[in-house]
Amino acid sequence: MLAPLVFTAIDLKGVSYAFGQHRVLHDIDLHIAAGSVVALLGPSGCGKSTLLRLLAGLTPPEAGEIHFGERLVAKAGWSLPPEARDIGMVFQDYALWPHMTVAQNVAFPLKMRNVPRRERDARVVQALTRVGLAEFLDRKPSGLSGGQQQRVALARAIVAEPRVLLFDEPLSNLDSELRESLCLEMAGLLRQLGTTAIYVTHDRREAEILADRIVHLSAGSVAVDRLVTSSSGEFA
Ligand code: ADP
Ligand code: MG
Repeated sequence: MLAPLVFTAIDLKGVSYAFGQHRVLHDIDLHIAAGSVVALLGPSGCGKSTLLRLLAGLTPPEAGEIHFGERLVAKAGWSLPPEARDIGMVFQDYALWPHMTVAQNVAFPLKMRNVPRRERDARVVQALTRVGLAEFLDRKPSGLSGGQQQRVALARAIVAEPRVLLFDEPLSNLDSELRESLCLEMAGLLRQLGTTAIYVTHDRREAEILADRIVHLSAGSVAVDRLVTSSSGEFA
């Protein structure tokens, strides 16, 4: 049985970031409703990954604050680390551990949370079933296709039922046919889970299929912020 889920609103207040003299994010204010799927859309270099890294706790902002629900998770020069944030992440390059089996990769977030072995095994099977890979438990990532590896990464991100899911262009390395089918599947999965999710992409169609709301970043600022209507998310 799944544990009851608790979702979290996210608030960014005046968030700025720079690499040295190079200002990358400018005074970003954003409220993300609990349980919504928000796409961060924008061209290469506009600051999407940097914003996601701040949300993940991989780096602190230079100015401003980030809140997950009532909890302050980052402010100027300080950041609650990723493992203390109850998040799941999926990256463009899958980032699976090559020496571990599929099951060990997916079990990792549960180990970090000290979930007992029996429950861990059951949850790993459940998460891999959700992404259609239950029969691949004992494979190594190198024995899987790119699409399958990304499904494993997705199972790893959701297995501990985190409050927040963060995606950084998870479909960009896949060919277009696979991208389309996995995108539709992920959209279904996100609806089922109901977890607050932030999905970085430069692909407008992906954003429209997956998200309830699209936030366009341009040169480190929010340029457009719009809700997605149900009919806009169709692959041509
Ligand atoms: P996006 O994900 O939208 O493509 P990024 O957030 O990766 O954009 O990068 C935003 C800007 O910050 C770009 O101009 C990029 O060159 C610069 N940048 C990214 N990472 C670094 C880094 N480690 N050091 C210096 N500049 C960086
Ligand atoms: Mg990026």
